[in-house]
Amino acid sequence: MTINIILLGPPGAGKGTQARTLVEERGLVQLSTGDMLREARTSGTEMGRVVAEVMDKGQLVTDEIVIGLIREKLETVDAPGFIFDGFPRTLPQADALNDLLAGMGRQIDAVIEIQVDDTALVDRISGRFTCGNCGEVYHDQTKPTAKPGVCDLCGSTDLKRRADDNADSLKTRLLEYYKKTSPLIGYYYAKKQLHPVDGMAEMDEVGRQVAAVMDGIGGR
Ligand code: ADP
Ligand code: ZN
Repeated sequence: MTINIILLGPPGAGKGTQARTLVEERGLVQLSTGDMLREARTSGTEMGRVVAEVMDKGQLVTDEIVIGLIREKLETVDAPGFIFDGFPRTLPQADALNDLLAGMGRQIDAVIEIQVDDTALVDRISGRFTCGNCGEVYHDQTKPTAKPGVCDLCGSTDLKRRADDNADSLKTRLLEYYKKTSPLIGYYYAKKQLHPVDGMAEMDEVGRQVAAVMDGIGGR
């Protein structure tokens, strides 16, 4: 039996953090289109150049590109289950994902919607930085490193901020989310696959709510 879940929510909702826990505790494989696109932009190809420009403005990359990236992973990665993080982000992407999974005899088992207030998102994202080595996520105010400039977990000094974590592109990212991604909430609700969790709670509590959903669908 395989488990496939989608993490849905606005930028800064904590999808990546929850995905990391599910990878560690349940052996699922995280498929983050954001991470794939950030990798593609360093490739030096024409596609990478276009992607970089679109991402830095906070707009969505075309459905064609992200669906192609996901298809490639699904065809090549063998896993007991996938966590889709940041995908699908549009209705055509959701349809494409259904078709891809159906072709593999798989399906979406749950869509976990992380609900967060708008005002909190701006604060969360504007202080965010991550470790380039291990991927741990920090925040200037709420979760600084113990020693300035050094990752608590792995000791790396390669701490970085994303080019699109600034006020201008964040505004666009939120608009894109409400215009193009939030309709997916109604779509999955109608399919009885939607499981909201309280993304304003403490991180551990959000983790417990996500775990409860996973246990409910047999995701052990
Ligand atoms: P966040 O959820 O914080 O916005 P992501 O890392 O998921 O961060 O995405 C960063 C950017 O990558 C998005 O603003 C968008 O430009 C692009 N992107 C990621 N996933 C998709 C997708 N499924 N469809 C279109 N564009 C995407
Ligand atoms: Zn680290």
